[in-house]
Amino acid sequence: MDVLQCLIKGDNMGKIGFTTSIPMELIIAAKKIPLDLNNIFITDPKPQALVEIAEEAGYPRTACGWIKGMYAVALIEDLEALIAVLHGDCSNTQALMETLQLKGLNIIPFAYPFDRDPENLKLQIEKLMKYFKVNWEQVEAARESLLPVRALCHELDAMTWKDNLVSGSENHYYLVSSSDFNRDLVQYQDELQLFIKKAHARRPYQDKVRLAYIGVPPIFTDLYKVLESLGARVVYNEVQRQFSMPGASNNIVEQYIKYTYPYGAFARLEDIQAEVARRNVDGIIHYTQSFCYRQIEDLIFREKLDLPFLTLEGDRPGRVDARTRMRLEAFVKMLI
Ligand code: SF4
Repeated sequence: MDVLQCLIKGDNMGKIGFTTSIPMELIIAAKKIPLDLNNIFITDPKPQALVEIAEEAGYPRTACGWIKGMYAVALIEDLEALIAVLHGDCSNTQALMETLQLKGLNIIPFAYPFDRDPENLKLQIEKLMKYFKVNWEQVEAARESLLPVRALCHELDAMTWKDNLVSGSENHYYLVSSSDFNRDLVQYQDELQLFIKKAHARRPYQDKVRLAYIGVPPIFTDLYKVLESLGARVVYNEVQRQFSMPGASNNIVEQYIKYTYPYGAFARLEDIQAEVARRNVDGIIHYTQSFCYRQIEDLIFREKLDLPFLTLEGDRPGRVDARTRMRLEAFVKMLI
């Protein structure tokens, strides 16, 4: 029985949570459900209530909204285990995991190597394999089973910037969801296939302004809608695209070495510069999250990216606030 069949049949389907993209092929090889806590948090009908659960438990107001949301989701979802990325994601992960350990969650540590060394990454993957009781052959089979759905993601992305048939919000939705394929690979694949088919029949957008969006996904729930109402279309979603694993690879280690997000600002910069150049972008929006260490990296991107640049900051989940809206309006106006 192949991996897809197992997923349809629901064999042994424990949910494995994670706080950022990890080699999810291992989870699929183990016939379990990958679950990205970020996606559950931000698509919840009341994400603000999840933040409040964490604050009531004692999380400070000055902690990142994503961390608080993920804490609540991890408690609510019936997880078999939670993979903690202790290097290559977030400076708050250790404390998040400790507070969840306190609540009895089963935590599996994982670390991307700081120096992007394939040997070190291989060791980390082997540790996960040991936990999930899977071998290299099973992991590679799972990786190959995901290639068609990943190819659809890449097609959607090309239809966004090359064919101009897909909006920034649609691009964001499908690529951000590729971190766990909305917990249902078969349904995600069918939905995306149908979307692509329909989008091919559209008339291309006549863009007034083409934007790049860099940084972690927005905690604002309507950012793309606001930009589109102003006549600006996002044709590059940096981190979301990385979740879909855009680089062709020969094996799982290579795939997660090419994935830029865990390896710091300079690894990301290389990818951003190449994509911004080929996508004919007029300006860049760098989204930063309040109380996130990544805000400091803004100065690197500002200095190195030679295009009009707007830094946005979001704190709590919800609609774009009036001040941010005014800044977006002024930025787009300047680019028209
Ligand atoms: S936005 Fe920053 S602080 Fe918040 S979870 Fe992501 S990396 Fe961590």
